[in-house]
Amino acid sequence: MNIIAAIILLTLIVNFLISLISEHLNKKKMFASKVPAELADTYSDEQFTKARSYYSDRLKMSSVSDAIALVAFPLFWFMGGFPYLESVVSGTTDSEIYRGLLFVGILVFAQFLIGLPFSVYSTFVIEAKYGFNKMTPKTFIQDLIKSILLSILIGLPILAAILWVFGELGNYAWLTGFLLVTTISLILSYIAPTWIMPLFNKFVPLEAGSLRDKIITMAEKANFPLTNIFVIDGSKRSTKSNAFFTGFGKNKRIALYDTLIQNHSEEELVAVLAHEIGHYKLKHITQGMVIGFVHTFVLFFLLGQIMQSEMLYSAFYMTNMPIYAGLIFFGILFSPIESILSVMMNSRSRRNEFAADSFAKKLVGKGDYLIKALKKLSTDNLSNPVPHPLYVMLNYSHPPVVERIRKLAE
Ligand SMILES: [Zn+2]
Repeated sequence: MNIIAAIILLTLIVNFLISLISEHLNKKKMFASKVPAELADTYSDEQFTKARSYYSDRLKMSSVSDAIALVAFPLFWFMGGFPYLESVVSGTTDSEIYRGLLFVGILVFAQFLIGLPFSVYSTFVIEAKYGFNKMTPKTFIQDLIKSILLSILIGLPILAAILWVFGELGNYAWLTGFLLVTTISLILSYIAPTWIMPLFNKFVPLEAGSLRDKIITMAEKANFPLTNIFVIDGSKRSTKSNAFFTGFGKNKRIALYDTLIQNHSEEELVAVLAHEIGHYKLKHITQGMVIGFVHTFVLFFLLGQIMQSEMLYSAFYMTNMPIYAGLIFFGILFSPIESILSVMMNSRSRRNEFAADSFAKKLVGKGDYLIKALKKLSTDNLSNPVPHPLYVMLNYSHPPVVERIRKLAE
């Protein structure tokens, strides 16, 4: 085993242990705590008991899936799965690009198949048990087929282009790869609201009336011209609710889940949207995009350096160095660094959430409506009112709801 293999194996185990410990601490705290005073009027003890059991059910499932991943991947690796797959695909065609599409495609599809039973169990057993799931098996299968087709239509040409770039362009391949991926991701995020999302959800313009008037008045006050307000049929899949902005430039639209409209007063909805506008006005969206570009730039730069290293390939028992295998191995080697980056990104995101909350409070004039909305959301979604700090640090992109309420009430 060479040093790269040792590092990968070690980080796999460390990663597994850290998430095991944080989940255990989180569960222990949840079972030992009472409903915090801030939530006491909406979150009943009965609901907290239900939330504990919801958490335990999900934890059991994710532990099984983590354990399977921890065993299955090294097993495939140490039994020579990668050189075996390489020998299979190299017998099919002379084109390196086609071989690459097959090699990566088979690995991605295998990973998808391993995850599928967990996704079925989560939707139709756990979410259904707590009354969240509204998805019929038909919708589930339709979603699955659409996602697969989209990955093929969008993912395969991008992969083919990257393989071509790295096969042909030598020293400038990493820079060209970066420019290519960045351009495509910009185009995708521009067309997503009008071309991709409607494949999954119906977007209906919010009808004229007091809610629409209130939203537009608030948006004008924030100097944020807003015409595209849509309602989407989230209730087709889940009782959980949400609101979000998509797209950028003139193509921005704001979408409110129908479930959100059903469960909240107009003032609460306006406060939730004021928070979302806050993300735009405070440049969180631009910030996120810039970070994304820098991230992709660094990844491609490192990829360009490491791809030439024989050690990377021999760590996976490969005797040759095909570009497509290099892409996969680089991804595996970098996943621990990605986890560290995601902890940093989560911390940035939690700070931004506080900032958007305080923006909304100023815009609406008081924090009460947002507090009410947050309380309802966390109660309706059975979210954990007392998460452990380590678990929050590792996984939460939003601050715990009690912290947000405290800040808003200041
Ligand atoms: Zn937010």
